[in-house]
Amino acid sequence: MQAEGIDVVSFGAGEPDFNTPEPICVAAIDAINSGFTKYTPSAGIPELRKAVSEKLEREDGLKYTPEQVIVSCGAKHSVFNTMQVLIDPGDEVILIAPYWMTYADQIRLAGGVPVIVRASSESGFIPEYDHLREAISEKTKAILVNSPSNPSGAVLPRETMKHIAALALRFGLWIIADEIYEHLLYDGEKHLSVGSLGAEVLDRTITINGFSKTYSMTGWRLGYAAAPLPIAKAMSNFQDQVTSNPTSFVQKGGVAALKLPPTSIEAMRAEFEARRDLIHGLLTAIPGVKMQKPKGAFYALPDISAYLGKDIKSDAELATYLLDEAKVATVPGSVFEGSGHIRLSYAISRADIEKGVARIAEALKRIA
Ligand code: PLP
Repeated sequence: MQAEGIDVVSFGAGEPDFNTPEPICVAAIDAINSGFTKYTPSAGIPELRKAVSEKLEREDGLKYTPEQVIVSCGAKHSVFNTMQVLIDPGDEVILIAPYWMTYADQIRLAGGVPVIVRASSESGFIPEYDHLREAISEKTKAILVNSPSNPSGAVLPRETMKHIAALALRFGLWIIADEIYEHLLYDGEKHLSVGSLGAEVLDRTITINGFSKTYSMTGWRLGYAAAPLPIAKAMSNFQDQVTSNPTSFVQKGGVAALKLPPTSIEAMRAEFEARRDLIHGLLTAIPGVKMQKPKGAFYALPDISAYLGKDIKSDAELATYLLDEAKVATVPGSVFEGSGHIRLSYAISRADIEKGVARIAEALKRIA
């Protein structure tokens, strides 16, 4: 529709609308100009693996050596590597719904079976302990935690993390921790890496992260996993046969990113917090729309089930209606196993947030 010149407000994209910080770009350009354009070791250049290992200790309290860090073409790639090396056919992996849909597909691609534990919007999308416990079977291989979460923006409290860690130790499960949104936290929340809960927990944890969201580097394709050594080695071997190294000069950009002072991303984080407040206020002012304030990431996942009924039966139909009638793009919650909701990314300007939500309010009025 945009290509046809139609003015669509898009809440669809999961990427920051900021430029990559200049020192990162300069480092990559310098690398190209100095001929750093050849193969590198498949698991990444030693300089970057060391910088990641130091970052994980400094910021997250995680002790992984550089050999335990496998640099990849994005966190998505690292999740894929993880599933491929961990999962045997029929193995189950517990996902807390609503979840990023890629997880389920990547589990299936590895021959595994996603087992879903639902977390309600009333609970702020925090899963209940009993539900997690009941989901464990003899076939359970791993449990995945994504905090802050895409699509809900939920941040798992320390208690929940401790429960998950205790279950992993008790039943010999792996914990796959996708921490890609760790720096996008609001209301003074502090990030908790599940692997920091103790050496035994770290021995069962694969920590995944990347540069896309924190440094606005979505197009660069750079991420990493840190894992117990046998898993890291398996991932390195696997990656060696699939993609080889992530792009050489992009890795130099990654080294520069990890040298930036934490203050360099504060302006972006603060802007997201202001947008979070704005979109939460606007959405909850619409009669029947319910949501709690998300504590992290850049997504709102309001409950719009009050508008589902005779004419529009599902969140998918509602998203289509909003696109056709209001020229607003959202993502249906059912994509994330969160039916009755729609996801709005607020990685767009405040003016567009105001315009888009006003259009949604108008369109919903017509079907109330
Ligand atoms: N993990 C989550 C939860 C995401 O939402 C995304 C992107 O939307 C990714 C990973 C992908 O990150 P990357 O760009 O590093 O592959």
